Amino acid sequence: MLTSVLVLENGYIVTPYRVIKNGVIVVEGSKVVDIGVKNEVKIPADSWRIDVKGNIVAPGFIDIHVHGGGGADTMDATYDVINTISKTHARGGTTALVPTTVSAPLEDIIRAINAVKEAMVRGVEGAKVLGIHIEGPYISVEQKGAHDEKFIRSPSREEVERLLEYSDVIKIITAAPEVDGCLELGRVMSSRGVLMSIGHSNATIYEVLKAVEAGYRHVTHIYSGCSMVRRIRAYRYPGVVEAAFLVDDLTVEMIADGKHLPPHLIKLVLKNKPLDKVCVVTDAMRAAGLPPGRYRLRTIEAIVDEGVAWLPDRTAFAGSVAKMNTMIKVLVDDVGLPLQDAIRLASINPAKIIGIDGRKGSLAIGKDADIVVMDSNLDVLMTIVEGKVVYRSEALL
Ligand SMILES: [Zn+2]
Ligand SMILES: [Zn+2]
Repeated sequence: MLTSVLVLENGYIVTPYRVIKNGVIVVEGSKVVDIGVKNEVKIPADSWRIDVKGNIVAPGFIDIHVHGGGGADTMDATYDVINTISKTHARGGTTALVPTTVSAPLEDIIRAINAVKEAMVRGVEGAKVLGIHIEGPYISVEQKGAHDEKFIRSPSREEVERLLEYSDVIKIITAAPEVDGCLELGRVMSSRGVLMSIGHSNATIYEVLKAVEAGYRHVTHIYSGCSMVRRIRAYRYPGVVEAAFLVDDLTVEMIADGKHLPPHLIKLVLKNKPLDKVCVVTDAMRAAGLPPGRYRLRTIEAIVDEGVAWLPDRTAFAGSVAKMNTMIKVLVDDVGLPLQDAIRLASINPAKIIGIDGRKGSLAIGKDADIVVMDSNLDVLMTIVEGKVVYRSEALL
């Protein structure tokens, strides 16, 4: 490229904080260096100018819970599969993601951690890889969802010590705090900066409160794999869902694909939690971006149709096949959320939840140039990751 300055012109720019009509963004290297309405932004002479033709320009999406896409799954544990996941989700506007594991023997999980680490060091061709999300195996059998029961267990001291060696790669751990050893896991990992998340959990509110004391701060895919009001000897106990609503310090993620969470439950979550405590995640499996059919989820089989993955007996969903822009569509078209709020749920909010909002999640001077351009149907026209165009649809130019 002749110049390292990229200018997006004629955008309907939606930042978490303002909407700029006829907006311009100037990107130099990997950073946004200017943003504003046409006349107040100085465009450098030798820049590469792209006319986005009045389309929506938003901060790139951050997906903190994604297993796979484009036929690849994090548990396949190679650099190439992580790269495929990164490229696949970039087509849905994702500019940063956290590949996610499932319950498995520790050695398999460590292979996935090493693959993610390699992707972080070498860099990838799509969405930036931020670290890994370890989902299971320290979860509740009662709330296992698509996790293979034979791998579900308590965290042993040896396993925790092995995982601690990778605390620079591990961003998030989803565990059930009521499982033996999971409070200690929370204390140790949260003190190393890992986001501890309650998920696939059958906890009562009393167990959730102890978890919060032990450093848990987030709830994984609320309503999926989460206990709700439980009756024990006739008494009713709030479960994980109610606790998530009651405890202000807990943030929550939703699989807003319209299947795992139908629009009314998405509304209910947004009515019970302040908007800035909620983010959306795809929880996508390997079939994201591929046609319906049968797919393997490690040792378990899944069927993809009706726009979602199912266990073969159709008793539960086995992950989504959504990309982030699919969920923006659901939030805007089916839930009735203003576009700006929908975009917040996919950008600045997840950035805050994992503590990277100082550099990602918004469009502002000095921030990483992570940008998505969408048409009025919320289909993605272009994705830019740290100043580099990683995806561009035929429809734009
Ligand atoms: Zn899950
Ligand atoms: Zn998951």
